Amino acid sequence: MSLANKLAEERRARLAAERLLEQKQAELHAANRKLGLHARALSHEITETRAEVQTVRNENQRVKSDLSVAYQKIEIAERRLWHSIQTIEDGFAFFDADSRMIAANDAWLAAFDGVEAVRPGASYIEILQVITEEGIVNIGDMSPHAWRERMLDRWQGPAPEPEVIRLWNGHYIRLTDRRGAGGDMVSLVQNITATIRYEKELKEARRRAEAANRAKSAFLANMSHEIRTPMNGVVGMADLLMEGSLDDEQQLYVNTIKHSAEALLVIINDVLDYSRIEADRLVLHPEPFDLERCIHELVTLMQAHARDRGIDLLVDYDLFLPTRFIGDPGRIRQILTNLVGNAVKFTEAGHVMIRVTGMQASEGAEADIRVTIEDTGIGIPPDKLDHIFGEFNQADDAQSRKFEGSGLGLAISRKLVRLMGGDLWVESEQGRGSTFGLSLPLPSVEAGMSEETRPDPALTRALVVEPHDTCRALLERQLGALGMRVTTCADACAALDLVAANAPDLVICDHHMPGMDGFELATALRAGGYAMHVIVLSSNSGSAAQDPAYGDVRAVLQKPVVRRDLITALAALSAPDPVIASAGDGCGMDRAPVTPRAMRVLAAEDNKTNRLVFSKMVQTLDIDLTFAENGREAVALFQSVVPDIVFMDISMPEMDGKDATRAIRMIEANTGGHVPIVAMTAHAMSGDDADIFAAGLDHYLPKPLKRAAIVEHITAAADPALRPPERAAAQVAG
Ligand code: ADP
Repeated sequence: MSLANKLAEERRARLAAERLLEQKQAELHAANRKLGLHARALSHEITETRAEVQTVRNENQRVKSDLSVAYQKIEIAERRLWHSIQTIEDGFAFFDADSRMIAANDAWLAAFDGVEAVRPGASYIEILQVITEEGIVNIGDMSPHAWRERMLDRWQGPAPEPEVIRLWNGHYIRLTDRRGAGGDMVSLVQNITATIRYEKELKEARRRAEAANRAKSAFLANMSHEIRTPMNGVVGMADLLMEGSLDDEQQLYVNTIKHSAEALLVIINDVLDYSRIEADRLVLHPEPFDLERCIHELVTLMQAHARDRGIDLLVDYDLFLPTRFIGDPGRIRQILTNLVGNAVKFTEAGHVMIRVTGMQASEGAEADIRVTIEDTGIGIPPDKLDHIFGEFNQADDAQSRKFEGSGLGLAISRKLVRLMGGDLWVESEQGRGSTFGLSLPLPSVEAGMSEETRPDPALTRALVVEPHDTCRALLERQLGALGMRVTTCADACAALDLVAANAPDLVICDHHMPGMDGFELATALRAGGYAMHVIVLSSNSGSAAQDPAYGDVRAVLQKPVVRRDLITALAALSAPDPVIASAGDGCGMDRAPVTPRAMRVLAAEDNKTNRLVFSKMVQTLDIDLTFAENGREAVALFQSVVPDIVFMDISMPEMDGKDATRAIRMIEANTGGHVPIVAMTAHAMSGDDADIFAAGLDHYLPKPLKRAAIVEHITAAADPALRPPERAAAQVAG
């Protein structure tokens, strides 16, 4: 190869090398630039990471500081809480779900006399064990084991009942334990020694007060006995004096003696009743009785007084309500007498209406009897409506003084009604009147009206002649309820016109009517050729029998009319021929005439004055009266006289009334029969009546004796085969 070629080749090679070098340099440059960029990015990243690390460090620092504050707060709260728990006087402890004590305050630990074993960490069973072993608790008659078992059972229950424990030192603690949601138990211990001591003192004070109250009641009862015995003489003799011939002045003196003595007795009885009820010594004597009759009897007694004051006293006894119930008739009469007496006393014009309604589920079941006593009197201010039921309270002291009264009547009545399971209330509008209402749950002894006492269905039309609007409306309703068509009018003249137009089967008319009275109307009807039945209602049925026209009427009924009497009289009208001429023969009694004997009454009474009073009280009766002067004589006379009824004084020499009665009942156990024996006593404690009834006496009459009560008992014992002791009030003529 030529040199030139060689040189050329070298040149080419040098050029190629130079180009490669340039290329490599360019590549190196590019790599350098990339490296620079990367290094910058890396340095940026490092800076950012450092900043983040710093932030996290700061955050940590803050959290740490917050935590330390929170810890401090918790510590303070816990300290305060524990301080509070330590400060309260009651013991406080809590146990974990395994019944191990977590903590307890000093009071809790002290309750167990600070025994060392009772401490946090101890289990409940261990604690029970320690306190029985150390005798910290007074467990009474129980064995320690049984006591622990009982306490453990209680503790393990879901909601343990509070438990009172007596400690060795006589202190009492009450344990109250409550389980929390996680099974923890909080246990409270309260020292109730002071409360228990206070309760004991209260009980003792109450016992002493009750004993004093009983002593007071016994004293009152004794006093009442002491007062009643001479009062029997005063009232009885005043009664007898009044029957003699006295001039006007003497009559006035005797009247005053009698009324003052009776007023005094009412007050004695009220005070005595009240003290008995207060001492829980008033005992009710339930027996079958006729409520309607009881109401009518008391209305009859009060009628004269109401009439003197110009007030109508009316009774509306629900026609379909039974009349016989089981209750204490004496007490029911007392309540009604008080309410009706008040109504008459506080009413100057208008009327007093006694309404009786009731509900009864079935025969023999308890009936819910409602009695309301409405008056059109002075009323009671609204703010006094409750006050008047308090003791010695009157609605308006100045006003009531004008009316007299002890202010005890309503308090006693309400207590009596509540004792019977009922209630007594009042509604009133001042100046317009008052309504006293009373509810009484009374078992009835019979169903309502029976079929045989319903009037003959042939009696369809009745005419009521009655001047008084309310009475007329009542009769109309009662007769209407018996299925009759009723026409009404206010006087005899209107009646004569209506008879001509309606031809009624029955005329019921009032006795005293303006113009023509009831008997004159009957006579006028007979004279006009009418043969319908005429029944006269009279507020004095006894004297009505003396009326010359008595023969023209079928019956005279005492007003206000006892519904039973009305129904009985109507049922007796069922004879098909109501013509008067045949009515007299219609009795159907063609038995041989016999002369019945009079009733024999034996009365045992040691006091001479009281024997005289008794004999005078029954002198108008058609009876044979024999006296015994002591119990022994009473028993002997019982066998020789064979009385139909015995009145027996209780306190008598030789043999008292109770022993005499026991002896008589023993005689009867052999001979058979049961003669009613009525106690007469000036003792008024209810415990005494229990004794009296236990001795075999049937009834009880407090002294001073009332003529009406004696007569009532004699009449009740009367045998229809004997001569009636007195003429009955309601008379059926013809
Ligand atoms: P007393 O009638 O003996 O004062 P009560 O306890 O029976 O005692 O009655 C208390 C008071 O209630 C009466 O004084 C009277 O103010 C008032 N009161 C009772 N009933 C009536 C009545 N029907 N109308 C108006 N006030 C009455």
